[in-house]
Amino acid sequence: MHRIADIINFLETLAPLHLQEEYDNCGLACGDSTATANGAIVALDLTAEVVDEAIENGFNLIIVHHPPIFKGLKKIDTNDPVTSMLLRCIQHEISVYAIHTNLDNVIWGVNGEIARRMGLKNLQVLSPKGGTHRQLTTYVPSAQAEEVKNAIFEAGAGAIGLYDECSFSSMGEGSFRALKGANPFIGTEGKRHLEQEQKLEFIFPVHLQTPVMQALKAAHPYETVAYNIIPLENQFHELGGGAIGSLPEAIAEKDVLSMLKTIFKTGAIRHSPLTGKPIKTIALCGGSGKSMIYNALAMKADLYFTGDLGYHDFFLPAGRMLLADIGHFESEQYTSDLLERVIKEKFPTFAVLKTGRYTNPVNYFL
Ligand SMILES: [Zn+2]
Repeated sequence: MHRIADIINFLETLAPLHLQEEYDNCGLACGDSTATANGAIVALDLTAEVVDEAIENGFNLIIVHHPPIFKGLKKIDTNDPVTSMLLRCIQHEISVYAIHTNLDNVIWGVNGEIARRMGLKNLQVLSPKGGTHRQLTTYVPSAQAEEVKNAIFEAGAGAIGLYDECSFSSMGEGSFRALKGANPFIGTEGKRHLEQEQKLEFIFPVHLQTPVMQALKAAHPYETVAYNIIPLENQFHELGGGAIGSLPEAIAEKDVLSMLKTIFKTGAIRHSPLTGKPIKTIALCGGSGKSMIYNALAMKADLYFTGDLGYHDFFLPAGRMLLADIGHFESEQYTSDLLERVIKEKFPTFAVLKTGRYTNPVNYFL
């Protein structure tokens, strides 16, 4: 048996909560994470039909992409559709958990799944996110430097792209004086001690700060460990919004549009004027991606597709790129498949089902 918290903790190791955008509200919207999980429905949105489905299946967890409480709830008005759905969930002891922009901001997430279905290679993030990493500097007696380094690597620090165990060390002389009551590893109380030390520097992702600091303190020989943690503005191409990759070979624009129609099961696609050039490099963003049109242009994409584009957006490429709106729901529909798949792989005996209800609120009259 698994607790709801086990499922949540697993998802948050893949898409840490701190990667959500500032405006977002990911995490548990309602419910008891300590309860035993007896099954989960996965959907893009919390709708009355999805709640029915969880109740019919006897499941007590609904995992959604879009947080049902987004801009805050200021009153419990039972006539408000969102409030009444959440109240129904609470009455049936169903927990609702949202995994939104934190899943948009990891390359394997929403956008990685879209790229996988398009067969794109050499994938990288379209708009890398800053502030995802910090630098740790510490000072260790030379004799213990290797041991401390190993412990910090073990906790997950020092990984950059396709490299791990990255660090920098420089030799120097540290000084300290143990005061009354101290229990120094080396040196004598009341006297300044000089020690040959190594200054060790690492970078680590913000969500690993607790294990990295625990590892440092457990492996470092000093009673009081000297260290600095510095926020970094570096951007890493695995973390951030959107994705860009390339098709195995260039395809004519109309053929790519047909491919989008088929893969994303849509009857119509809105697009900017055809450029007349074949498509090889494709940028994409599931959901509302108008803010990344310039990123796609800067990275020389032949096509950028997303959802929720406005009239004026279609002027922006001006012949340099094909821009397409395939629909918000259509672009994100495979997020439910992705979540169902990773949860099944991790918890093979746990009942997790992608919703069987069609939850797209947008309809097309063809
Ligand atoms: Zn969305």
